[in-house]
Amino acid sequence: MAWYWWIFIFFMMGGFGGLANMGRQALATRHERQMERQKLLRKERQAIEAANKPPEPICGCTHHLAKHDKAGKCHESVEQPTAWDENKKPVRFEAGTCNCQQYVGPQPLSQVYADELTDLA
Ligand SMILES: [Zn+2]
Ligand SMILES: [Zn+2]
Repeated sequence: MAWYWWIFIFFMMGGFGGLANMGRQALATRHERQMERQKLLRKERQAIEAANKPPEPICGCTHHLAKHDKAGKCHESVEQPTAWDENKKPVRFEAGTCNCQQYVGPQPLSQVYADELTDLA
């Protein structure tokens, strides 16, 4: 075999190496794209889950439904300002209870279901 055959083979090997590299690169970008797609799908699913989740039962007085009694009165203790400075910023507080009279926030889903079930029975 002539010596230049060896050079030819050497370049062929190099060429194949390059091809393999290109292939690996293509696979890598495809993998990246798949990851991107999966991330998008996951985000979508999270958005759907968030949409299906009942809203936090927070009253207009900013307190949780659990802080309200059956009559709807809020029992959360709050700090009521008793003195203000010249900028109308409260400087002294007094412990008091929230004067909310009625819970106005969203009802938790479980409660709605329970009501429907008792209606059927
Ligand atoms: Zn309250
Ligand atoms: Zn309230």
